[in-house]
This record gives sequence, structure tokens and C-alpha cells, in this order.
Amino acid sequence: MKAAVATGVNAPLSLVERDVPTPGPGEVLVRITACGVCFTDLNLIRGHFPFARFPVVPGHEVTGVVAALGEGVHWPPAGTTVGAQFLYDSCGHCDYCVRGEQILCGAKRITGIGADGGYAEYAVFKAGYVTPLPDGLDPIAAAPLMCAGITAFNGLRQGGIRPESRVAVIGSGGVGALAIRYAVAIGARVAVIGSSRRSEEHALALGAERFIATGEQDPAVALKAWDGGANLILNAAPTTAAAEATFGGLAPNGTLVLCGYDNHPISLPTQPMILNRLRVMANPSGSPHDLRDTLAFSAAHNILPEITPIALEQTPKILEAMAAGTAGGRSVIAF
Ligand SMILES: [Zn+2]
Ligand SMILES: [Zn+2]
Repeated sequence: MKAAVATGVNAPLSLVERDVPTPGPGEVLVRITACGVCFTDLNLIRGHFPFARFPVVPGHEVTGVVAALGEGVHWPPAGTTVGAQFLYDSCGHCDYCVRGEQILCGAKRITGIGADGGYAEYAVFKAGYVTPLPDGLDPIAAAPLMCAGITAFNGLRQGGIRPESRVAVIGSGGVGALAIRYAVAIGARVAVIGSSRRSEEHALALGAERFIATGEQDPAVALKAWDGGANLILNAAPTTAAAEATFGGLAPNGTLVLCGYDNHPISLPTQPMILNRLRVMANPSGSPHDLRDTLAFSAAHNILPEITPIALEQTPKILEAMAAGTAGGRSVIAF
């Protein structure tokens, strides 16, 4: 089979021919249909994950068809179209795993970082960690839902979104655009925060009722003028400073959820935080049950990301363009 392999930090991706892997006990072999190319894959190559296992096949936004079952596996049956997510597996017996919060397990492995992922024609996944795709969800366009989708949907959910919430989304790229659409579909009112008016039209077309350009306005002041502030702010921009700048725009009892971040440590005004019972939390992707809910909600509300299908051979170039900041939109490898 064809595969793209990350061989080490700052080494270019290498395209190789490999044997199709054999599923072991508890595993399924998946013939891959599509795999999204994510900024996390670039960060893997840049050495941001000290727990990475090189050489590794990157890719954690995977859809495909179950082709063979390992020993002891009865579900999902061969022929099922499934998604494989950021979470590859976990210990299965700690309190978090037993509660269905596998994403919080201390022994979790990340797909495409700690175990081979979807930049290949086939991959082996744990049977209990793949999720059948709801009928009617296009498996190529749906691939980024396994990462950007679950991150956005679960971030809103962990942040306590309600139909009557005022939700501010910072950034309208991959995760941000999906967060806007999920929040609107849940019934919330949505404001979008961007650095310039360039993305205003897009944000309003996705259902946002207002757009705040940080180049023109203090986003905290602008949010406070929105019926008293946002009940929930979701940071989908890859900078911690963007989240910091909006924090003062929370309504009392509001929550800031960090999905995007960088290495800059967050600094927040503590007295208003205490007097207004404000919360800050972060959200890493989600557990298998969160992906089920994300996919069911996406199918019910017809929410799929805008993507550009590419061939596996184009992936090294796309990663270079992402590093240079010249890649537009979400690329998905289609096999
Ligand atoms: Zn991703
Ligand atoms: Zn565990």
C-alpha cells in the first residue's frame, strides 16, 4: 500500500510502499477513504509533541471502510463506513475510561502521533474507538469532523452552550467555521471575532449576527455592548492572546473555552473573574461518545466543512504551504 511517513522532527514527509497491516486482537483493518490534513500534522513534524513515535504515519481525521476484523472483534462488521479520530486508544480501565471520558485517560495515544494514522491506503484501529458514520454523511467531506468537528462541537458543549446563549467564536477557519454553524444550529446567538473585516461576509453567511474586527474595536468592549456580554467564548484562533483580549467581554457566569492556543501563557484579570464567577477551561477533542454525537448532529443539520480533495502525493507540498501560510482552506486526502 501507499503511505506517507513522518520520519523525524523537521524531516520532510516521505512517500513509501508498505505492507498492508494485519489487525491484532481487538483491532480492525480500515481501507481508508479520506484523511484530513490538519495543523496538528504540521506541528508533529515541527517537533511539538515530545511523545511522538517516529517513524509514524500522520493523520487523525480519518474515514474509511472496515476491511477485516482482528481476533475477538464482532463489531463494527466488515463493510461498515467508520471514522477514526484524534484519540487512538486509552487504558480502558481507569476512572475516566470507565466513565466514557477516554480523552482524559493518562495513558491515551493520539492517532497519527503515537500510532499510525490515515496518510495511507490502510490502517489498523481499535474496534472500540472507531465510530460508524451516519447514513448520508459524505465520507470525504466528513473527514475533518473527526478532529475540527468534534473539537468545535464538544468545546461548545463542555462550555455549557444553551439555545438562549450568546456565543462568541474567535476565528472562522476550520474549527471556528464549524463552531459558528453548530452554535447557530443549537439555537444560540453568535458573534464572530476576527482580526479584519476580510472574513465578515463569510461569518455572517454562516449565521453569525455580528462580526467584531479586533483591528477596529476592542473585542471585550464590543462583546459587553452585546446585551451584556457573551455567555460563552470559544477560542478557535491559534493564539492565546486572542482569547485573553476577549475575556472582559464575558457576561457574569460566563465561560471562556480554549480550543486554539499557542505557547504564550494566559494572563487574566482575577478580581473581575471572581466577582463575576467567570470560568476558563480548555478542551481537547473528545471521547468516542462525543464523536457519535458530533456526527449525528452534523448529519441531522447537514453541517459539513468546505474541503479541497487532494492526492496522497500532494501532501508534502500542502504541508509546506501550510507552514508558509499560503494554504487556503482544508485539504483532505482522498484515496
Ligand atoms: Zn486535526
Ligand atoms: Zn484510562
